[in-house]
Amino acid sequence: MTANSRRSFLVNSAALAATPLLADSVFAQAPGRKLGVAVCGLGSLATNQIAPALTKTRNCRLAGIVTGTPEKAEKWQKQYGIPAKSTYTYDTMHQMAKNKDIDIVYVVTPNALHLPHVQAAAAAGKHVFCEKPLEINTERAQGILDACKKAGVMLGVGYRLQFEANNQECVRLAKEKVLGDVKIIDANFGFAMGDPTQWRLKRDLAGGGALMDVGIYCLQTTRMLTGEDPMWISATEVKTDTVKFREVDETISWTMKFPSGVISNCVSTYAANGLAGFRAATTRGWFGLDPAYFYNGNRGRRSDGTEINIPVADQFATELEDFADCVLTKRQTKASGEMGLSDVKYLMAVYDSIKKGRPVTL
Ligand code: NAD
Repeated sequence: MTANSRRSFLVNSAALAATPLLADSVFAQAPGRKLGVAVCGLGSLATNQIAPALTKTRNCRLAGIVTGTPEKAEKWQKQYGIPAKSTYTYDTMHQMAKNKDIDIVYVVTPNALHLPHVQAAAAAGKHVFCEKPLEINTERAQGILDACKKAGVMLGVGYRLQFEANNQECVRLAKEKVLGDVKIIDANFGFAMGDPTQWRLKRDLAGGGALMDVGIYCLQTTRMLTGEDPMWISATEVKTDTVKFREVDETISWTMKFPSGVISNCVSTYAANGLAGFRAATTRGWFGLDPAYFYNGNRGRRSDGTEINIPVADQFATELEDFADCVLTKRQTKASGEMGLSDVKYLMAVYDSIKKGRPVTL
């Protein structure tokens, strides 16, 4: 699947805490001024989702770009009225320190470039919103938290489902035990990968395959619904195309146990379309979403016949507005760096279980 067909699959298939912060001057905003967001990495997600979303946000706006491609810089400058002084390359982004029009850097580059790009943004004194997965291993993910803490800037992770109303309605059903206690969760996400040359298939840049890219959504579902961290993980891998998936995982099936006794079964795949939902079995019935993970059209049902189909605004605009609000009010985002780090830890445990051929206890 090419970047475009992956996008169309996602779009169309369903039709501080106590972190010391920078001086208050960073937050001193003229009344009505929208926070300036610089997008770092002008690829598919940035072009098709993030930039359009930033035209809809009430408290932030697209104010700068970081790109290694001059043609993209020119196109974005024209399309979004971005001045040359707010246009950077990966090598010059440290100069943002002097640019008062930029408050937040949104890092949207391949997974293994998140660390250097977050480090550069944080060192320039900018708050950072970073795409998932936070990085390709726990050490590098911890490096992201360390860089933001050292610079005294806020860090948020692009976990759009933390702000998506249908997913959050399911979190409410679980928390309030509307259909009884959640006991078993099935969560699956995948797509048939096309272009064999893309970075998602390169271990150095992606860290792993479908697990890192889309399995993370299933992990998020289980953590959101249980409100708990897994304590035990057992995983197995299947590879049917050893050429395309020479460097990364194709399909992984994994089971997690949670302290309350919930058990979850998850599948991530780059081999097939058609899996993008979850179902939670409860003591008095069930609820679930299918699809659960698309950019729009997520919907589902409960065992009592009630539909779950809440109209949702642009998920990227919603998550960006929330992060800008966190910066403005010094509130901790629920899509925190700590959550991003622990997710990477659990994804690594999935790989560890496959490597060892046995369950791992966390
Ligand atoms: P993409 O390949 O379309 O874009 C990546 C961008 O990084 C491109 O502009 C590319 O030029 C740039 N880049 C800089 N250095 C590079 C290098 N050495 N190799 C390759 N590209 C390089 O990828 P994408 O789909 O936009 O994904 C970017 C990030 O966003 C990833 O971390 C991905 O996991 C995440 N993502 C999140 C969602 C979501 O729903 N939250 C959806 C898609 C992607």
